[in-house]
Amino acid sequence: MEIQTLRPTSKASPDIFTGDAWIDVIVRGEEPSRVRVSVVRFAPGARNAWHAHAMGQTLHVTEGLGRVQSRGGEVVEIRPGDTIQTPAGEWHWHGAAPDQFMTHLAIWEAPAEGPESEWGEHVGDAEYLRTPGAPAGHEVSR
Ligand code: MN
Repeated sequence: MEIQTLRPTSKASPDIFTGDAWIDVIVRGEEPSRVRVSVVRFAPGARNAWHAHAMGQTLHVTEGLGRVQSRGGEVVEIRPGDTIQTPAGEWHWHGAAPDQFMTHLAIWEAPAEGPESEWGEHVGDAEYLRTPGAPAGHEVSR
């Protein structure tokens, strides 16, 4: 057993985030495990840029009110208790609502080789501020 005591939180890079977000690394698996778990706290209006994970990603909202969007889909509101599964290679972004904080767990796996994620353009206000729809389909399960 190893108990990892509280470590300093990291500010998310403005290269791949809009607004203020903070990341706490909870698990960084040692080979053969390649699991990754972080807690991400988004300030109101903050979101990450368009990106895709080599092995997919699971998000679990623990606090606040947020938004998520897949490429080609509508902006969807996410709430505490929601679990969002993003398949490998699917482009998406996630963040807080414009007027609320949002915290989620992010769980993913590093690939055996190559980058964990691919990053694209920032999510502009016009897109981010679209009226969100309710979750529908299998991408978001409540
Ligand atoms: Mn993601």
